[in-house]
Amino acid sequence: MKSVSTGRINATIFYAYQICPREAWFYFHHINPAQDHELLDLGRISHEFSYKRDRKEIFVDNLLKIDLMKGELVAEVKRTSRHIKAARLQLAYYLHYLKHEKGLEFEGILLFPRERKTEKVELTPELERKVEVLIKEMMPVLLAEEPPPARKIKYCKSCSFSELCWG
Ligand code: SF4
Repeated sequence: MKSVSTGRINATIFYAYQICPREAWFYFHHINPAQDHELLDLGRISHEFSYKRDRKEIFVDNLLKIDLMKGELVAEVKRTSRHIKAARLQLAYYLHYLKHEKGLEFEGILLFPRERKTEKVELTPELERKVEVLIKEMMPVLLAEEPPPARKIKYCKSCSFSELCWG
């Protein structure tokens, strides 16, 4: 049974929304940050070299990019655990999508190679509900003609849209 429609919400948009809905709106509307932003490079480097040996990206419907499968686990690699709540929800979104759109049930694991840290994520009914509520909440925000107003948060300093928001 399909629960809620995920529309065009890809994993990047879903993750970004947890941190800043304005950033998610930019991605949803294909407004991308400058590709030479220093933090994007860092993210890319950590992505390239961590877990290089067993790395196997899997693309699902052009919406999800699964970093690797570790046995029966869907793994998501993050540069830092600073936004661990958002990372948990993003992985839950993957698991929810695979379950409802593909009929595949998996557990997940978050990998923070720089911090040598891992965390298992299980799609409990509670987490599943949380993902569905979030998707419903996100749609009108993302579909609006204007982005949500810029709000200064800690993350703005390292956000690749900071120039766009704060000049
Ligand atoms: S700079 Fe701040 S307000 Fe602007 S998109 Fe990034 S996090 Fe959001």
